[in-house]
Parts: sequence; structure tokens; C-alpha cells
Amino acid sequence: MGKKVVVTGVPGVGKTTVITGAMDRLAGEGIVYEPINFGTFMFELARKEGMVADRDEMRRLDRDVQKRLQRAAASGIAAISGDANVIIDTHSSVKTPVGYLPGLPEWVLRELMPDVIVLVETDEDQILQRRLGDESRTRDMEGARSIAEHQQFNRAIAAAYAMYTGCTVKIVRNENFLLDRAVEDMVDVLR
Ligand code: AMP
Ligand code: MG
Repeated sequence: MGKKVVVTGVPGVGKTTVITGAMDRLAGEGIVYEPINFGTFMFELARKEGMVADRDEMRRLDRDVQKRLQRAAASGIAAISGDANVIIDTHSSVKTPVGYLPGLPEWVLRELMPDVIVLVETDEDQILQRRLGDESRTRDMEGARSIAEHQQFNRAIAAAYAMYTGCTVKIVRNENFLLDRAVEDMVDVLR
């Protein structure tokens, strides 16, 4: 049975960067993970249906539409993951205009059944800086306090995910100028 690792973190914390770094490092050891981006699965569907032109528009779609896309993504991912080691790049919770949407509600967890949930975190002021500097994405303009609240909520809801699946919850800090340390911590989870 392959290992299923779910990697989460607020937008801009650098989860995709840490995942890429860890996969490169592991490839050198002959350990292979299939990287799967949950948001991309949702986006392909949403774009086909003409609902959005940009992945960052999805979190403002109607809540029920987001949940339908989420459910479809989860079953699509379960169908392709099989026995491989997979690393799923997603969100513990998504900040929507009507509140935090769980990234892994019960019907998503049942499909994915992760062994580990990783929370990539850093200080809220660093995340704020990174969002301001990222031209490639439409990042929400929120204050440091609001980012801190989101990270806090992500930890709380990850504990609920652990209750449901028995998965472990690992916090990986991705601090400024210390990407190597974050990659090293992620490698330890994946190895
Ligand atoms: P990302 O590229 O990881 O920032 O994901 C892009 C978008 O996909 C997010 O802003 C969400 O709208 C959506 N998304 C990703 N994962 C989930 C999830 N597990 N549940 C709901 N929406 C998600
Ligand atoms: Mg990303």
C-alpha cells in the first residue's frame, strides 16, 4: 500500500515550493511520489463548465458549487492514486466570503484516507510579505491578524481530520531563508 500524504497551508506559505524540493531530494534516494494538486482537479472542472477563468476565483464561487467541485476532485484523485505513494497539495480550510470551508470534509477524507496531514506554516507577517511579492497569483488582501486566525483554524480542523482517520499531523515551518530546513522536515515525513 502506498503512502498518502496531504500537504496543506494558507495561500502563499510556500507549500508547493516545499513539496517540489522534497520530491527532488527523495528522487535521489529512489523514493518516488506522485504529486497531485487538488485545486488543479477542481479548476479543470470549473473551467470546463465556464464558471471561472482563474483558479483563485474558485473560493468565491457559491459554497454548494465549491463542495460539488471538491467532491468530484476527491473521487477523481482516489481513482488515479491506486497503490502509489501520493502527495496531495491542498488546503486544510479555504477562506470563503461565507466562512472557512473545510478542505477535507468527511466525504473527502473517506476517499483520500491520508496517513499524514502536513501543515506548512510560518509567521503571519512573512506570509503577508510573500503575498505582496507574488505577481503570479491573485492573493487575498488580508491583514496579519486574519492570516494568523486562518492558520489557527487550520490546526484546529486538522485535529478533527486526525480524529476521523487516525492520521498523524505534522507541522513543518517554512521560514524566510530557511527553505532547506522545511524541505528536510518534509523529507522526513515522506521517507
Ligand atoms: P492552490 O493552488 O493550492 O492555492 O488551490 C487553488 C484553489 O483550489 C484554492 O484557492 C481553493 O479554491 C481550491 N481548493 C484546493 N483544495 C481544496 C479543497 N480541499 N477543498 C476546497 N477547495 C480547494
Ligand atoms: Mg500552491
